Amino acid sequence: MIFEKMAQYDYEQLVFCHDETSGLKAIICIHDTTLGPALGGCRFWNYDSEEDAIVDVMRLARGMTYKNAAAGLNLGGAKTVVIGDPKTDKSEAFFRALGRYINSLDGRYITAEDVGTTVEDMDMIYQETPYVCGVSESYGSGGNPSPMTALGVYYAMKRTAKEAFGDDSLDGKTIAVQGVGNVAYNMCEFLHEEGAKLIVADINEEAVQRAVDDFGAEAVSVDDIYSVDADIFAPCALGGILNDKTIPALKVKMVCGSANNQLLEEDKHGQMLKERDIMYAPDFVVNSGGVINVADELEGYNRERATKKIKGIYDQMDKIFAIAKEQDILPLQAAEHLAESRIDTMMRVHSKYSAKPKRQMKQ
Ligand code: NAD
Repeated sequence: MIFEKMAQYDYEQLVFCHDETSGLKAIICIHDTTLGPALGGCRFWNYDSEEDAIVDVMRLARGMTYKNAAAGLNLGGAKTVVIGDPKTDKSEAFFRALGRYINSLDGRYITAEDVGTTVEDMDMIYQETPYVCGVSESYGSGGNPSPMTALGVYYAMKRTAKEAFGDDSLDGKTIAVQGVGNVAYNMCEFLHEEGAKLIVADINEEAVQRAVDDFGAEAVSVDDIYSVDADIFAPCALGGILNDKTIPALKVKMVCGSANNQLLEEDKHGQMLKERDIMYAPDFVVNSGGVINVADELEGYNRERATKKIKGIYDQMDKIFAIAKEQDILPLQAAEHLAESRIDTMMRVHSKYSAKPKRQMKQ
């Protein structure tokens, strides 16, 4: 049954990690390492069942293969899920045990933060393995990736605006922002500076107030954010929010935000947006600034280099829109094609024999 699942999308490896002392129960899934070592975060979640955890880690690992490939990174896709309650189950022993498992993969897998894990958790993993990103800045990391993710969303939004409105300026555009947390607050700063008008909604009153005070944003309820009169909708909170109920309510011309997996059902809801003439910017490209920033640590973090690469999301979007037009497909499908074609090409390049010394020759 598990091998059948692995065969469906050609997964490479599933690693079940158990440590009795610390109570660690984790699954590492490596989907594809054609482009390089597989990088993907570590999610700590109280799954209802082991089956749910396996399904999730496999889905997320495959998503990372596409995100890393489309971002132009020389990295494959993987993910870890830890089964447990992040509020009560964390300990030094827990993360050091996980670090040892990651180390045993000898660089095939590199971890980082995800939902439920923090910089402090990565620091504990770093005590056992170098194959971890997103550690404390004192260890040479880029720190919190959210401002860099926001920069990427901003550039993706500009390029998508060019497609939807014929011009990449966001000056005077009205942008409805769902969730003004870490990424969206920084994104709003860029948008405000450029002269955009912001409408925001969040379940956290303080987050809303901060956007109102700092950027003169208009606040609306979390239910009303879908139907406000705006040019752009920026989902920056949850996944699955573009669905049968919300798409008919939208009055915007384009959707571009940081949230992962915004379309509840990719094909159906991608098509529904197209039929309503709403341009959808593929979320895994839009929000790839975070992974680009984190991956830069692997070469010794350099903020200037990371910033340049993240601004390059504008050009990636350029390519994606060109493929979409050429092949008459949705930009989301074009982004997937771009990722698949990069993997396929590199697989063929790698098929060329290149000698590696196997043993020292006698002098
Ligand atoms: P965050 O937790 O700081 O912000 C999310 C905000 O959404 C919070 O303020 C929260 O109160 C709000 N929210 C939750 N439910 C809501 C609802 N029903 N309606 C309105 N607001 C709601 O998270 P973040 O780091 O800013 O990430 C935002 C999104 O971007 C997530 O989907 C995340 O997976 C994705 N993302 C983040 C990064 C990153 O670098 N942080 C990178 C890639 C993708």
